[in-house]
Amino acid sequence: MAKSPEVKLAVFGRAGVGKSALVVRFLTRRFIWEYDPTLESTYRHQANIDDEVVTMEILDTAGQEDVQQKEGHMRWGDGFVIVYDITDRGSFEEVGPLRSLLEEVKKPKNVPLVLVGNKSDLDHIRQVGTEEGERLAAEMACAFYECSACANEGGAVAEAFHELCREVRRR
Ligand code: GDP
Ligand code: MG
Repeated sequence: MAKSPEVKLAVFGRAGVGKSALVVRFLTRRFIWEYDPTLESTYRHQANIDDEVVTMEILDTAGQEDVQQKEGHMRWGDGFVIVYDITDRGSFEEVGPLRSLLEEVKKPKNVPLVLVGNKSDLDHIRQVGTEEGERLAAEMACAFYECSACANEGGAVAEAFHELCREVRRR
């Protein structure tokens, strides 16, 4: 029997954007309010994606690493989720530099990536418009999801991870 494919995914973004909450939501379908922000963890998860069992290894980075540590995580990963918080413009402005570092580390390959604008439940204090996220994703030629780790309307969190797996498998 063919061994089921394995993909290594790493989640990047400024501390506090909700990386841990998103990963935990994806893995457990639950929302956990407080997560140690300094913690870095890896999880294994299996999912059936387009009739194929895919094993994911997911690295939830702390978001406070220095450049060397970030580069190490980038070399490790096959695919990347870059997360910003729609209520934190600074976190959106960190997406571009992260993408550049990824390109640098992974060149000459073109990097499987999804962009996630998290905390869409906090629309009343939004600082980054949906169109801005869409535009940035178009520039980076990647899929874009606005979602909420706590509300998770329409299962957008899982959709983002699954789409990233597909993107990795297409390469
Ligand atoms: P990380 O540092 O990127 O891993 O961020 P965390 O997952 O630790 O989340 C940081 C804070 O944002 C915590 O207080 C979470 O409860 C909160 N948070 C995470 N995701 C959401 C979300 O979708 N909506 C709201 N309202 N809060 C969130
Ligand atoms: Mg965290």
